Amino acid sequence: MPEKKTHQQLGEEGAAFCGEAVIAEFEALTRDAAAVQRDTLRRILADNACAEYLRGWGLDGRTDAASFRACVPLATHADIEPYIARIADGDTSAVLTAKPITSISLSSGTTQGKRKYLPFNQELVKSTMQIYRTSYAFRNRAFPVADGKALQFIYGSRQFTTKGGLTATTATTNVYRSEEFMPTMRAIQSQVCSPEAVIFGPDFAQSLYCHLLCGLLHADDVRIVSATFAHSVVLAFQTLERVWEDLVADIRAGTLSPARVAAPAVRKAVSALLAAPNPALADEVERRCAGLSNWYGVIPALFPNARYVHGIMTGSMEHYVKKLRHYAGGLPLVAAEYGASEGWVGANVEPETPPESATFTVLPNIAYFEFIPLKAASGGGGGWAAPADTCFAEAEPVGLTDVTVGEHYEVVVTTFAGLYRYRLGDVVKIAGFYNSTPKLKFVCRRNLMLSINIDKTSEHDLQLAVDSAAKLLAAEKLEVVDYSSHAEVTRDPGHYVVFWELNADYAAGHGHDEVLQSCCDELDRAFTDPGYVGSRRAAAIAPLELRVLQRGAFQKVLRHYLSLGAPVSQFKSPRCVGRSNNSGGVLQILNANVVKVFFSAAYD
Ligand code: AMP
Repeated sequence: MPEKKTHQQLGEEGAAFCGEAVIAEFEALTRDAAAVQRDTLRRILADNACAEYLRGWGLDGRTDAASFRACVPLATHADIEPYIARIADGDTSAVLTAKPITSISLSSGTTQGKRKYLPFNQELVKSTMQIYRTSYAFRNRAFPVADGKALQFIYGSRQFTTKGGLTATTATTNVYRSEEFMPTMRAIQSQVCSPEAVIFGPDFAQSLYCHLLCGLLHADDVRIVSATFAHSVVLAFQTLERVWEDLVADIRAGTLSPARVAAPAVRKAVSALLAAPNPALADEVERRCAGLSNWYGVIPALFPNARYVHGIMTGSMEHYVKKLRHYAGGLPLVAAEYGASEGWVGANVEPETPPESATFTVLPNIAYFEFIPLKAASGGGGGWAAPADTCFAEAEPVGLTDVTVGEHYEVVVTTFAGLYRYRLGDVVKIAGFYNSTPKLKFVCRRNLMLSINIDKTSEHDLQLAVDSAAKLLAAEKLEVVDYSSHAEVTRDPGHYVVFWELNADYAAGHGHDEVLQSCCDELDRAFTDPGYVGSRRAAAIAPLELRVLQRGAFQKVLRHYLSLGAPVSQFKSPRCVGRSNNSGGVLQILNANVVKVFFSAAYD
């Protein structure tokens, strides 16, 4: 393994990549975002004037914002589901778009328990490339990395053919499989370490092992360590902690362990890279792993020329930032862009900002955006509600450039792939403006998570409560590896259940009981929604229950989702599980892995 290169050397390599043209294009687009939005809407509506959906709402070929908003109502996924179902079943008429939709994207389904079907087309590939290009140009200006490689923990998902013959898979896989993906990666970004056979391998565990192996084989060239979601990077290095000796043995022997990797196509592609025994590299990896304390800084130790770690680290991924920082040592963590299977929203053009304060600057030409103003539930701990939750049509959305700094909104998109005034279900806060386009701070998913009676607890409230209670664990060198929650209403009064998996096995009589009891009490107090506080005081909600899980419980949840066909690259731990849909199975898994239960003390 060669020595670490100087910053100057890396800077000179980086100068070979010229992102300035991309940045200039972005500057031009954001200077008059209102005009770009008008033009974007005009193009979407003109291109799709003959679509049944738009004709049905009487738009009659008009392309201006006022007519559009007057004729076409806000829509949820449930509203357009029947149209998408017809397309998936083979209706090739102009249902949502003039040109037929060519494939279907499946949302991850890990946030709401149900996978949504969404239209995907070439326009989404184009906007994906634009957003990759843009955020890369800004990242590369801050951390130049040209000519290096990217260790990317990415995984293609299974795909199937719908009744009507369309390919259905995740949006990321649709992008990975597009003709533009690999050339764009090569042109704008460092090359991926792993061959395609690894990305599209049939088994997640085998692909993960090979990603690690390919990364180590190219260790000196790795400049970026990344994944779509931060969770995948954490999972990769947790795996490395367990399998590093096997990786070293494979490098030493120049052969791939058949016990670890069995898939023939993956074996063939990776064996070609392994080629010959490499005892020098094996010794070096062994020495570096053995020299680490609790795996702190493993990423820069193994990849000495890596410049940063990249992935989505906001929203439900924020929980993994702490662990990621541990693995990354002093390397910068750069939050990746904000989007959904429905389409992209914004790029992180300030890559040096820590992930906790990352914002996403909206690209005004990738979709037409509206924002539904939300007001905070009074005195709540961050729960956001529309002025009237049941009367959404009355909440008047505002345009992209009409939002107010400091206010909260739900994002509404009109895309080139046939979604019109579609509510994304995400809450964002306006952090400021970049030229005339807003910078969004992701707050949480809009959907209410925990509710027993009048209480309203959001994903964000839960995260704050878990963070606050988890601080008590530090003295015991314990951490919350992952968490979830459940509203238990089978007995009256109902109560909140919080599931915790810790980084060590629960040990009775080793002081754990005491600290976990305090955590349980703190969780109860940390839910500050007035509905919760009032109900607890009135005993209309029973004491909170903390269920401590066996180690590996969330790995079982991940495997459960994978068995249902959910994509690992888009996996987000479900923060609230119920009895219905996919999460019924998840609740069973969590309950089957409980090793200890605590109830919170009396509430004052
Ligand atoms: P899916 O389409 O199932 O992959 O999930 C899309 C959802 O993931 C979005 O609606 C957001 O709630 C969440 N998401 C995507 N990107 C980000 C991001 N950068 N920060 C926080 N949440 C994100």
